[in-house]
Amino acid sequence: MELLNEGYEIICVDNCYNSSPDVLNRIEKITSKKVKFYHDDILDAAALKRIFSENKVDAVIHFAGLKAVGESVSIPLQYYHNNISGTLVLCQAMKDANVKNIVFSSSATVYGLPKSLPIQENFPLSATNPYGQTKLMIEQILQDLYVSDPGWSISILRYFNPVGAHKSGLIGEAPKGIPNNLMPYVTQVATGKLPQLKIFGNDYPTPDGTGVRDYIHVSDLASGHSAALKRVLSQTGIDVYNLGTGKGNSVLELLHAFEKASGRKIPYEFVPRRSGDIASCYADPTKAKKELHWETTRDLNEMCEDSWRWQSQSSGKTSD
Ligand code: UDP
Repeated sequence: MELLNEGYEIICVDNCYNSSPDVLNRIEKITSKKVKFYHDDILDAAALKRIFSENKVDAVIHFAGLKAVGESVSIPLQYYHNNISGTLVLCQAMKDANVKNIVFSSSATVYGLPKSLPIQENFPLSATNPYGQTKLMIEQILQDLYVSDPGWSISILRYFNPVGAHKSGLIGEAPKGIPNNLMPYVTQVATGKLPQLKIFGNDYPTPDGTGVRDYIHVSDLASGHSAALKRVLSQTGIDVYNLGTGKGNSVLELLHAFEKASGRKIPYEFVPRRSGDIASCYADPTKAKKELHWETTRDLNEMCEDSWRWQSQSSGKTSD
């Protein structure tokens, strides 16, 4: 929507594994603009070839990946196949069509256990699960691609913890089954769909003992993509950017902000730490500010208000 509002023509390619094409109707309702839609899979080379030949594409924003850490441990082959092979097929189709501008969604998970905070883009990288491995490997594939042909223009965006929803309350996330992530779990406790939040650990070396993360509003994340797109369209090169606010909030801080935003009490209990979790993680977003001229504008209260508006208006709808 951010890009539609800026006047770009958008082509959406989605296999709808984790989304519903109905979201396009809602996008149209909000922006009064049409998105051309292909119900296709990025693993399908013939489909991509057709899409590139039917359209004059200037750049690709590549979000097509499986993204649940726990699930990636249970079904690693699907994660490697979908995320890695999908990227290879996409990049080959781009190369064949001579489209060499790409923005890729990576994740702060590539920092593993950070050596210090806030996290800068040049920190050492590691992965502790197949999902994280796929993000690391794709970053490496894109680096190699650029080395092979400096005509490429590549922007790698490392997301911190995206939450919130579009202000309209029409578009947000609707995870399948029981949510793994904190915010959708909290919103489902607020509606009574889930009985109470389990807080994973209250003995971390953080101000209140609960885990600290850099929550970023999805609309700020969207404007980060728009800024990265402008960069890849204007110059060649490969760059990596943290997309975060630079501020860490604990689980309890988020919970209290959500209670305030929703006017609902969120019952919770402390349970042992979740395996693989780290105490604290937050970005140094200076590089994105300097080179992309981008910064976040929405605080934790706004993230909670918008998550709640979406959840309370959307029971039964599917995600974006
Ligand atoms: N968390 C929690 N209970 C939950 C889900 C998450 O206490 O049901 C905590 C988790 O331990 C971490 C923070 O909330 O400190 C954010 O977790 P999430 O899974 O949303 O994102 P992550 O940073 O792990 O990718």
